[in-house]
Amino acid sequence: MAANYKRLDDLSNAAIVSDFDGTITDIDTNDLIYFTFGGQPSYEIEKLIAQGKLGVKEGALQHFKRIRLTEHEFLSFIFQNARLDEGFKDFCEFISQKGIPLIVVSGGYINTISSFFKKEGIDSANIKIYANRLKFNGCHIEAVFFDESDECESGLGPCGNCKLRRLRELKTQYRTIIFIGDGTTDRCAAREADMVFAKGSLREYLTVQGIPYIPFNDFHDIRRFLNALL
Ligand SMILES: [Mg+2]
Ligand SMILES: [Zn+2]
Repeated sequence: MAANYKRLDDLSNAAIVSDFDGTITDIDTNDLIYFTFGGQPSYEIEKLIAQGKLGVKEGALQHFKRIRLTEHEFLSFIFQNARLDEGFKDFCEFISQKGIPLIVVSGGYINTISSFFKKEGIDSANIKIYANRLKFNGCHIEAVFFDESDECESGLGPCGNCKLRRLRELKTQYRTIIFIGDGTTDRCAAREADMVFAKGSLREYLTVQGIPYIPFNDFHDIRRFLNALL
């Protein structure tokens, strides 16, 4: 078991940092909107971002130049097509009882994240959200960024709201950072966290890099694992 993570000497001053899209939800809600309503140009934009030729921030600005949705239409479409992880609500109650804060760090939008939590009856008193924001003016959408800088702290390419930067800030407050993620923009933070739960492409990346992690399928797995340690 000990080989699965780096350092875990003290959970008495720990915080959990989690990605949102594809980690807490089953699908990426941003891709869902971009690909459904942005048409072919949105595929091109995402391809350029994946190749590191376009910043995440610039990409989002370009997507929303062409997408026309009211906030109600935007959220309804996401709620119809995406689901929260089925273990997430229990997980939130569990860590709240243990006094461990959850910080959601996302390159997506706080509109989606907080509405999803509200809809699912998740008590967000113990949850902090660092994400970008969408300003709706009728059916026109403008993305407002959490962090104006688009550069990844670790030089892994543009990651939008750099999770490593947020993690380093949190490191000054918490001794142990437990990170949960699934994708490309989670790589930088996963490299520096004290303990990592990974699924999806993040898992493959960490395996290739030889960075220790604990694989998970859903938040029930994470709760069970932490429960055995606490
Ligand atoms: Mg993700
Ligand atoms: Zn980064």
